[in-house]
Amino acid sequence: VSDVYTEKSFQDLALSPAMTAALAACGFERPSPVQEAAIPLGRVGSDLIIQAKSGTGKTAVFAIICLERLKPEATTLQALIVSPTREIAIQSEQVISRLAAGLPEPRASSAVFIGGLPTIDDEKRLRRVCHIAVGTPGRLCQLIQAGSLRTENITMFVLDEADALLGESLYADVTWIYDLLPRRKQVMALSATYTPALLEDLEPLMKRPQRVMLCEESVALHAVSQFYCLFGAADAVGEQAGSGLEGQVQAAQGSSAPLAEGSAESAAAIFQAKVGRLVELLAAVPFHQAAVFCNQKPQAEWLARKLSAAGFPAAYLAADRTQTDRIEAMDAVRGFKLRVIVSTDVMARGVDLARVNLVINLDLPHAASTYMHRVGRTGRFGSRGICISFVTPSELAELNKYVEQAQGGTVQPLPPSSQLMHL
Ligand code: ADP
Ligand code: MG
Repeated sequence: VSDVYTEKSFQDLALSPAMTAALAACGFERPSPVQEAAIPLGRVGSDLIIQAKSGTGKTAVFAIICLERLKPEATTLQALIVSPTREIAIQSEQVISRLAAGLPEPRASSAVFIGGLPTIDDEKRLRRVCHIAVGTPGRLCQLIQAGSLRTENITMFVLDEADALLGESLYADVTWIYDLLPRRKQVMALSATYTPALLEDLEPLMKRPQRVMLCEESVALHAVSQFYCLFGAADAVGEQAGSGLEGQVQAAQGSSAPLAEGSAESAAAIFQAKVGRLVELLAAVPFHQAAVFCNQKPQAEWLARKLSAAGFPAAYLAADRTQTDRIEAMDAVRGFKLRVIVSTDVMARGVDLARVNLVINLDLPHAASTYMHRVGRTGRFGSRGICISFVTPSELAELNKYVEQAQGGTVQPLPPSSQLMHL
C-alpha cells in the first residue's frame, strides 16, 4: 500500500482548509500520485488530460476541483460530469455529495441524471438548486433538449472514462452536449488508457490542456495477480463434440444453460465445466467479494441464479435489467449483503467496489482494454486482488496478446487453490 500515497498532504496542494477537513472526514488523509499531480493544475482552471491506472483515485480529482472552483452562492448549474455507465454516474455523485457534506454553508449541491429512471424526478431535482450534475450521455441530452437542464452557466465539463465517452456509441451524444456549452469553460478528461486517436478527438475540445500521464509504460496493477485456467484442451474439444458429454453434464448440473446461437456443441460442455470450476473456486478461495464477468447477458443471468442455488447468493448486473434492479444489485454488493456479482461489461470499467478481491472472467473479453478494465475491478487503491480468466487453448494465446498489447503484467497458470490462501 506504500506506493498509493505520495509524501505530500492535501494541505500541500493549496486546497482550502475546509476542503482538507472534508477530505479527512471522508478518510482521505493524503493524496494519491494522480491527485497530487492533477489537483493543483485543475484548481487554477487548466484544461486537463489525466491518465492514471484503475483504482488510483481519479474521481476525487474532479470532485475536489469542481467543489473548490464552483460558486455555491450562485444558484446555477456550474459543473457537468459525464459518465459512460449509470453505475459510475451514481458512484461519482456519491463521492461528490459526501465531500460536499463536509464543507461549510453555503454548500454545493449535486444530483445524478441517468437513463432508466423517470425524467419527472430529474426535472424536480433540476428545479431546485443543483450546482453539479452527474449523468450518462443519453439522459443528459434528453434533459438539455427538454430545456430542463440549462447549460449556459456551466464552467466545468468532465469526461470521466473519456475513451468510452468518445468511443463509437456515445461520441455523438457527448459532442452534441459539448457544442451547447459556453465557450469559456474548463474541460477535464480522465481515463486509464489513451490511444492516439482519443488524444486527437480530445484536441478540439480543449484549450492548451495540461497532461498528467502517470503510467504511459504500463497499466498493470502490481497488487493484482493474474491467472488463467484452461478448458477444453485442444484435442479433447473435437472428441467431446457430439459425444453426449453435454447432456451428461447438464443432467448432472440439474438445468441447462443458455447458449449463444450457432455455437459449437462442445461450447455447452465447456461452459458447464467452467461453471463447475467456478463453484469449486468460490468454495476454495477465501475471497471477500467476487466479480464474475460473462460476455453474454443470458449466460450471466443464468449463472447468477445457478450460483445462488449453489450457496453463493449472487447479484446480476446487465444493461437489460431495470434501473431499480441495477441499483438494488449494487446496493446489495456495497452493503455486503452479497459476496458475488455476476455481470456483463456494463460493470467492466469505473465501478469501485473496494472489497472485491477476486475477479473471474468466465469468458475472455473481446478487447485488451476491456480485459484490463475488468482486472481493475480489484486491486482498488493498492489493495491486493487476483484475476482468473477461464480460457480455451486458443483463447489463452489471445489473452497473452492482450496483456502484452496493454503492457498489463503477466498471466500465470492457476496454482492449486491452497496457494491462493494469501488473499
Ligand atoms: P479510479 O477512478 O482512478 O479508478 P476511484 O476514484 O474510483 O479510482 O478510487 C478508488 C478508491 O480509492 C475509492 O474507493 C476511493 O474512495 C479511494 N481513494 C481515492 N483517493 C483516496 C485517498 N487520497 N485516500 C484514501 N482513499 C482514496
Ligand atoms: Mg474512475
